[in-house]
Amino acid sequence: MGRITLEKVQKKFGETEVIPPLDLTIEDGEFVVFVGPSGCGKSTLLRLIAGLEDVSSGEIRIDGQPATDLPPAKRGLAMVFQSYALYPHMTVRKNIAFPMKMAGMDQAEQDRRIKKAADALNLTDYLDRRPGQLSGGQRQRVAIGRAIVREPAAFLFDEPLSNLDAALRVGMRLEISELHSRLETTMIYVTHDQVEAMTMADKIVVLRAGNIEQVGSPLELYREPRNVFVAGFIGSPK
Ligand code: ADP
Ligand code: MG
Repeated sequence: MGRITLEKVQKKFGETEVIPPLDLTIEDGEFVVFVGPSGCGKSTLLRLIAGLEDVSSGEIRIDGQPATDLPPAKRGLAMVFQSYALYPHMTVRKNIAFPMKMAGMDQAEQDRRIKKAADALNLTDYLDRRPGQLSGGQRQRVAIGRAIVREPAAFLFDEPLSNLDAALRVGMRLEISELHSRLETTMIYVTHDQVEAMTMADKIVVLRAGNIEQVGSPLELYREPRNVFVAGFIGSPK
């Protein structure tokens, strides 16, 4: 399960309102992309959902349960960080096992989940290498593997491909989309890249200065952009 609802969620940093009260529903299994220019509040919104920031007001629910006051570890969500967040001195296996080890999971269950993640990500042959011996794409897969083993209700990605070169980005985009089809788990993906949004999303949330300008499928946004900002951002002919 991975249905996430935001009800009048607002975020202020001091006196500055970065996210005005907004409502949003993310359905179980959806691939949702938050897109918008730099500084519009994408990361903040994702961090509110993850519990890495506290809301100033409003309510977050995960599968109907109030989650607003839950710490990140209790929300059942997994944030995928950029690949440079890997531990360079640990093998791939240990990097992937790290969150399970921290949670005190027994070894047999850890091994089962590592195998499952390695199979899903084609990392089986790389488990005993260290991040420095991997390509950028492989490192990014390890970072995703570390999220998969938590068997989360949803994966949260914050511009995970921004430090990869253009060619690699295209391949990783396809891999993440394929992973979504295979796992059928909710994914929320933050990017400022319109092409990523249009090619990966079931549902796009267009943000400008913390406001939701429009929510819809790529085709809906392309055909019926609500305003000039959305049209310009999506590259719609309108
Ligand atoms: P995006 O991810 O879309 O680039 P962010 O969510 O990082 O945007 O930032 C949205 C706005 O909130 C920006 O104006 C940023 O400067 C501000 N902001 C983000 N984090 C903090 C913070 N911890 N303290 C104060 N202002 C912040
Ligand atoms: Mg950001």
